[in-house]
Amino acid sequence: MLVSMKEICAHAREGHYGVPALTSGNEHIVRSAIEAAEEKNSPLILLCNVKAPDFQYLGKVINDLAAKSRVPVAAILDHGPDYASAVNAVKANLTDIMIDKSSEPYEVNVAETKKVCELAHAAGMYVEAELGHVGNADNYDEDGHTAFTEPEMAVKFVEETGCDFLAVAVGTAHGQYPKGMKPEIQFELLKELREKVPVPLVLHGGSGSGDDNIAEACRLGITKVNLANDLYQGCIKEVLEHDWSSGWAAYGFYGVVAEGYKKVARHYFDVCGSTGKAWECSPKGLTSKTETETVKEG
Ligand SMILES: [Zn+2]
Repeated sequence: MLVSMKEICAHAREGHYGVPALTSGNEHIVRSAIEAAEEKNSPLILLCNVKAPDFQYLGKVINDLAAKSRVPVAAILDHGPDYASAVNAVKANLTDIMIDKSSEPYEVNVAETKKVCELAHAAGMYVEAELGHVGNADNYDEDGHTAFTEPEMAVKFVEETGCDFLAVAVGTAHGQYPKGMKPEIQFELLKELREKVPVPLVLHGGSGSGDDNIAEACRLGITKVNLANDLYQGCIKEVLEHDWSSGWAAYGFYGVVAEGYKKVARHYFDVCGSTGKAWECSPKGLTSKTETETVKEG
């Protein structure tokens, strides 16, 4: 069932676990993500890239498939660059919007985020903003140690913008870290942010950040972990290892990609601690966990 990220993150914050936010982009990947979440009985957040081909259609696909799902599914525009992209997310019937003005000066970030919050809240949607800046892993020596989120500023930012979730910079980075490198997560900073900031916290750049690091970050207050690169790599690995000698195998291509994606997704539900945390929102209107489990087993 489609629910807002607000609901998913509120449960996660209370339960001290995180929920994987998985890159999507087309019907096959959305199906794979939902199937993996159902296997793990976990809530799921889908990341919708602004560059996805036919963004409006992606919204339709997500709405259709999430409506049939046994687990709670939210769909957020990932790294919306501007107000126009937020309008597109409203039109696509997503549940949440990220506006990312973290590279801009503080005042610009506040003003733009506030505008998107007004739009989103009027449409019954919720907003993730970013303060500090999560940079790129291939430039980790520089990006991994600069622009951390400052707690007092974060409190002020949330108050001034009215945003519903905050992506924080605590030492992770986007993409693929240089070989053999694990990021240094600022756990003390994260603890302080969790204590002071009144909205759920989000970690970007989950891929390659180390299972122990991610699990600890979720225990300390991260409620959403963004993942993309490890899922791409999982798909590629599966494709390379598959036997394609029969011509007929071509028709199974997307199934092979899906399996690679799901292997990585399943792993991260466990790492973040959201496995088994789906609550009852079955499309059949079942009300108790026991009933849901009985139906699944039967
Ligand atoms: Zn990100």
